[in-house]
Amino acid sequence: MSRHLPVYLLLDCSESMVGPPLDAVEVGVHSMLQALKRNPYALETVNLSLITFDAKARIIQPLSDVVSVAPPILSIKPGTALGAALTLLRESIERDLVKTTREVKGDWRPLVFILTDGSPTDDWRGPADRLKNAKSSLASIYAIGCGEEADFTILNQVADVCIHMASLSPESLAKLFVWLSASVQSMSSAPDDAIDLRKIPLEKGLELVDQADPPNRSSTADRRQYLHVMCCRTKRFYLLRYVQDPFNHGFVCQDAVPLPDDFFSEGAVKSPPIDANLLNGSAPCPYCHNEEWAQCGFCKHLFCFDPSSVGMKLTCPVCEMTLTMSLDGGGDFSVDGSQG
Ligand SMILES: [Zn+2]
Ligand SMILES: [Zn+2]
Repeated sequence: MSRHLPVYLLLDCSESMVGPPLDAVEVGVHSMLQALKRNPYALETVNLSLITFDAKARIIQPLSDVVSVAPPILSIKPGTALGAALTLLRESIERDLVKTTREVKGDWRPLVFILTDGSPTDDWRGPADRLKNAKSSLASIYAIGCGEEADFTILNQVADVCIHMASLSPESLAKLFVWLSASVQSMSSAPDDAIDLRKIPLEKGLELVDQADPPNRSSTADRRQYLHVMCCRTKRFYLLRYVQDPFNHGFVCQDAVPLPDDFFSEGAVKSPPIDANLLNGSAPCPYCHNEEWAQCGFCKHLFCFDPSSVGMKLTCPVCEMTLTMSLDGGGDFSVDGSQG
C-alpha cells in the first residue's frame, strides 16, 4: 500500500460568495479534479476531502482517492462557521488517516486549504487551538483570504501560511485553483512532511501575507451589511448588499443578487438590527425590478415594492397583513441585517 497525501479543501459558502464567486469555485474545483485525475502521481498519492461551511459545516466529500471524487455542487447559506469546519477537519484527520506504526508507514501530513472571504460567525478559536495543539500539529494549513473583507488577524491564528487574493472575480478564482492544483500535483510527486508551498510560485493576483504584519481588517464586521428581501411578486428572496461608504458615515448599496430557494432551509443567522438611515441607495429587485424595498411593520420582514405605489394599500408578501407604504429611509425604523 502506498502512502497517501490527504488534501482537504475547506470552502466558504456564506452569502458573500453568492453568484459568480461561488460558480467560479465550483468550476475551479472541477478543473482541479480533472488535472489531478490526469496526473499519475496525484492519482496514486492524493486523497481528497471537501468541507463546506456557512451557518453549519459539512463534509460534502469524505476523504477518498481522486478518481472517486465527483465535482461538487455548492450552495449558499447564511453564516461563516469556520470553527465548525475546523472541528470536522480535525475529526476527519483523527479518524480517516492511516497512522504510522512500527509495521506501517502512515499517510503524509495532510495539506489543508481554507478558502474564505469574510470573518467567522462562530467560535473559531477553540477549534483552531485544538487543531494546532494536537501532537506536533495535525496538518499544514494554508488560508486563502479573498477580497477586502478577509480577516487575516484571525486567519493568521488558524493557518501556517496566509495568502491574500485581492479580487473575488471568476478570473482570480480560476488562477487560484491553477495554483492549488499545481501545489497538490507538485507535492504528490515528492511528498514530504515538512511541506512548504511557499516555494511554489504564486499566480498573479495572489500574494503571501506577512504574518508579522498582516493587513489590518479587524473591523470587517462593520464594513458591510446584507439585507434579506422578499420579492413581493415572486415571493423569492434576494440579498441586498451594502458596503461601508469610504467618504461618508453609513453604507452605500452595491447590488442585489438572487438567493437560492433553499437559502433559509436551515434557519437564518440574525445579527443585531442596523439603522436604515445609514443605508444609502437601493438596487432593483432582481426578479421583478421593483426599485425600492420596505419593512413590514408587523412581521419586520423586508420586501420589494414599487415606489409609485406609495400611499396605496399593499399586502406584505411574508405575513399577508395589509399595509400602507411610506418610503424607506425617511423614518427611523431599523431593519434586520446579516453578515456572511
Ligand atoms: Zn420583486
Ligand atoms: Zn409582514
